[in-house]
Amino acid sequence: MVHTGAPAGVGRLAPMPGAFSIMVPERFEQVAYGHDAATGLRAIVAIHSTVLGPGLGGTRFWPFATEDEALVDVCRLAHGMTYKHAAAGLDQGGGKAVILGDPATIRTDELILAYARFVDGLAGRYVTAEDVGTTPADMDLIRTVTPHVTGVSEAEGGSGDPSPATAHGVLWAMRAVAERLWGSPSLEGRRVCISGVGKVGAALADHLHAEGARLSVADVRADTAAEVAAHTSATVVPAAGAHSVDCDIFSPCALGAVLSAATIPELRCAAVVGSANNQLATALDAQRIRASGVLYAPDYVVNAGGVINIAQEKGGYDRARAEARIRGIHDTLLAVLDLADRQGITTAAAADRLAEQRIEAARVTARGGR
Ligand code: NAD
Repeated sequence: MVHTGAPAGVGRLAPMPGAFSIMVPERFEQVAYGHDAATGLRAIVAIHSTVLGPGLGGTRFWPFATEDEALVDVCRLAHGMTYKHAAAGLDQGGGKAVILGDPATIRTDELILAYARFVDGLAGRYVTAEDVGTTPADMDLIRTVTPHVTGVSEAEGGSGDPSPATAHGVLWAMRAVAERLWGSPSLEGRRVCISGVGKVGAALADHLHAEGARLSVADVRADTAAEVAAHTSATVVPAAGAHSVDCDIFSPCALGAVLSAATIPELRCAAVVGSANNQLATALDAQRIRASGVLYAPDYVVNAGGVINIAQEKGGYDRARAEARIRGIHDTLLAVLDLADRQGITTAAAADRLAEQRIEAARVTARGGR
C-alpha cells in the first residue's frame, strides 16, 4: 500500500505550544520526547547545555497534571543543573528528564528498560541519575541497557545515596560563611537552626553536633525532629517558625521558596546556609535578603556535594577523592561572596555570574579562542 499523506492518527493531533518557545530564549540545545507503545512510557529529556560536558541530571517520575507542566519543569530543572555543575567546577553540562505518570501505579521494570533505551539513543549527550520518584535500583536496571547513568548503588560500584555528601558540602559552606563573618571557620558554639531533618538535615545535625555547634531543629514530622534532637542535644522548634529563630545560621533543608517577602523581614540570623533547592521564592528576594543584611549563601553552590560526589563515578568511584572535591565548596563559596562584594551585586547573581564565566570560557575554547 502506498501512503499519500500523514497516518490518520497523526493527522488528528491538536496543535500545541512548542518547546522552542522555551528553548530559544534560554539557549537549550535539545528537548527529546520518548514514547514506548508496549509499556506506555512517556518521557521528556531536556538538554540545556553540553558546553562543559554531557548534560547530567536526574530522572523525575511524577504525575504531572499536563504535558506542558512536565515540559516547563524538565526545562527549568535542566537549566538549573547547568549552573550548578558550572559553579561547582564540574566538567558536565545540564540536563534533566521526566517520566510522566505516577510511579506507584505505572512503574514496571519493562517501562524503566524502555526508558533506558530512550536515554541510550541520546548517545551520551544526556546522562541520567536518580531524582524524585526514581531509586538507585532503577539506576542499576538502567545500567544494564546503557552506560549513560550515574548514581548507581554502591554494590554496583557506584556512589550510592548522595545525601551524606550533600550534608558534608553544606558543612563546608557553613565553615566558609563563619570564616567570612566571624574570622574563623570554627562552628564551635555557633547557634544553628536546621529546618527539615530528613536525609540531609539529620546528617548535617550530626556533623554540627560533633563540631560543638548549638542546635535547634524543626520538622513537620514531630517524631523525626525528636529523634534527631535526642542524639544531637538540639532544641526542637516549631516548623512554621523555624526561619525566625534567633541564631547565627539558619539552615533550610526541607522545601524551596522559604525566603520570601513574608519571611525575610522575620529572619533573626546572620546567614542562611542550607541544602534546600530554590530557596528564594522569587528573583526579587535575592535583593530583599541583601538589603536586610543577612548573608545568603546561594543554594546551588551550597548543596552541590551530591552532584560532586556522583561526578566522581567517572573512572571509578573513590570516596576519599570525592570528599576532597566536596571540600572545594568552601573556596567556591568564598569566591562567590568576594565577587558579590567587588561588583556590588547579590550573592545569587554572583553565583550565576561565576557559572556563566566558566561556560563562556569553555565556549570560547571550543571555538578555538575566538
Ligand atoms: P528528605 O525528604 O529526606 O527530608 C526533608 C525533611 O523535611 C523531611 O524530614 C520532611 O518531613 C521535612 N519537611 C518537609 N516540609 C517541611 C517544612 N515545611 N518545615 C520543616 N520540615 C519540613 O529530603 P533530603 O534528601 O534531606 O533533601 C532536603 C532538601 O535538600 C530538599 O530541598 C532537596 O531538594 C535538597 N537537596 C537534597 C540533596 C540530596 O543529596 N539529598 C541534594 C541537593 C539538594
